[in-house]
Amino acid sequence: MSMPRNPLADLDSTEFLDNFRGSIDAFDSARLPHEPLSREGLRKLVELGIYLPAIPRAYGGRESHREMCEIIEIMSERNLPMGMYTMIVTVLFLRNVARSGDEALKEEVFDDFAHHPVIGGLAFTEPGSGSNLARMQTTYHDDGDAYRITGTKHWQAFSEQADWWIICAKHPERKEFGYFAHRRSDGGFVTTEVYDSLGLKNLGYGLNTLDLRVPRHYRLTKTREGLGDAAEILCASRFSKAAMASGFLRRLSTESLRQVNTRKIGDGTLHDIGYVRYKVSRIRQNYVACNALYRHLMLAEDYSTDLENSMFASLATKVLASELMLESALDYQQLCGGEGYRKGAPDNIAAHALLDARVYTVFDGTNDLLCQHLAHLFLRHFQESGLRSPLEFLGRFGYLEDAFFHLTDINLSHLADAPSQDRIVILGRILSRIYGIGALQKASRTAAPSARLAVDDADYAKAIAVLKNEIVGLVNEYELTARLVGAQALPGALRPHGSVVTFDSKVGMR
Ligand SMILES: Cc1cc2nc3c(=O)[nH]c(=O)nc-3n(C[C@H](O)[C@H](O)[C@H](O)COP(=O)(O)OP(=O)(O)OC[C@H]3O[C@@H](n4cnc5c(N)ncnc54)[C@H](O)[C@@H]3O)c2cc1C
Repeated sequence: MSMPRNPLADLDSTEFLDNFRGSIDAFDSARLPHEPLSREGLRKLVELGIYLPAIPRAYGGRESHREMCEIIEIMSERNLPMGMYTMIVTVLFLRNVARSGDEALKEEVFDDFAHHPVIGGLAFTEPGSGSNLARMQTTYHDDGDAYRITGTKHWQAFSEQADWWIICAKHPERKEFGYFAHRRSDGGFVTTEVYDSLGLKNLGYGLNTLDLRVPRHYRLTKTREGLGDAAEILCASRFSKAAMASGFLRRLSTESLRQVNTRKIGDGTLHDIGYVRYKVSRIRQNYVACNALYRHLMLAEDYSTDLENSMFASLATKVLASELMLESALDYQQLCGGEGYRKGAPDNIAAHALLDARVYTVFDGTNDLLCQHLAHLFLRHFQESGLRSPLEFLGRFGYLEDAFFHLTDINLSHLADAPSQDRIVILGRILSRIYGIGALQKASRTAAPSARLAVDDADYAKAIAVLKNEIVGLVNEYELTARLVGAQALPGALRPHGSVVTFDSKVGMR
């Protein structure tokens, strides 16, 4: 019997989001226990419509890319682990059912998620294969009117808790990967060990043994060769780091300012110290950069479409957003002094903020690997362009062209000189910063989508200066790798023209 339509599904978007934002105080990271969220807690969020933007209208949802982004951003400001929680269920699980599920599967899944406090997870990683998914050992076979899946997976978010899974498995003979929905109550997905993670404790992790059968119509329609569909699935979650970073860093920016304004030192406060103000500003500028990445995700991408062609942007987003989160979490903890090293400190959230942010550079593809992908994509397009100057190519490469005028005073001429593997990783990191400058440049030309996301015009130039400074440092690191790992230095290797990059006319807005 189908359920009545949820009245939240028909609210105006602003009203829906304002209601959600105004009702999640109890989930604040300073208050919510750092343990897997209770079903009662999840029920409250489901009643606020947390999943509705990811559920198609035909199944009683709100079907909105923009709201999916906003719910994650808003949640991450309150509580980063809960932003991650929301992302996994909506962007990784529900999005793939909506895009590739059979009608009967959609009906079953969406009816469950629209009305009940249920959880969906994604099972890709195995003890023997994380970065190299192609080596996965979990297999699927035809088994009469079903598929049988056997193997071991680990580090899945919601290992013990998820009611639904999307499982990736390999055919033992054909080089083919399949993606299968599985309802946990059908049996065969068993958590044999619970992992004690350092952070993100509102989600549980563990080691899982799989020996299960799924009906034929639970197989998702994914037809790319090799791991092409896994890459597309991960594009969406990598993009979502912009939403998490934007919410999280806005919170850290506010918290760090409050901290230094209230902490008494001598006759004044920490805020009177120049270096402290500089660090607070660095956190602020990292927020401004992630806010720009987020605006790109919300306004220029769409979770309901195939994201393969946005691979470059999604990789750059994940690398940059996660590295800025980690850097700022450390700075914020430093500003909180000894109390920042204390879980449950009365005046700051620094201990958990750092533990939660730490893993973002590791999961969802480790950043070092993603940097490599990013660099290879760039080098391939550069070679295809027939151009000789990487800088000239940057000025024509869709995702980076907006950054061009900010780069003309950095010597990037050797970027494409067939770098060694270690340099390829650093090149990827440089490209992520260039992408960030482009996103900032674009954001500076457009009005903020809402008052919550507005930043001062003057902040754009400062945030661009921070990223330029990082590029200069990375260009120097490019040289350093050769000395440390013993490879031959390239003749005339990268060297910035100027040793200091200032935010004067060189980073002026177009
Ligand atoms: C908190 C958390 C949540 C997770 N959630 C999920 C989930 O929900 N579902 C799921 O399926 N998986 C999940 N994972 C697994 C996660 O995606 C993997 O841990 C990650 O992809 C890295 O794989 P690995 O652990 O096997 O590391 P490895 O592949 O062993 O890599 C270890 C390190 O080696 C280096 N390295 C590896 N390859 C390269 C390269 N090409 N270039 C340079 N350096 C390299 C990097 O420094 C890397 O960090 C989660 C992990 C954690 C910690």
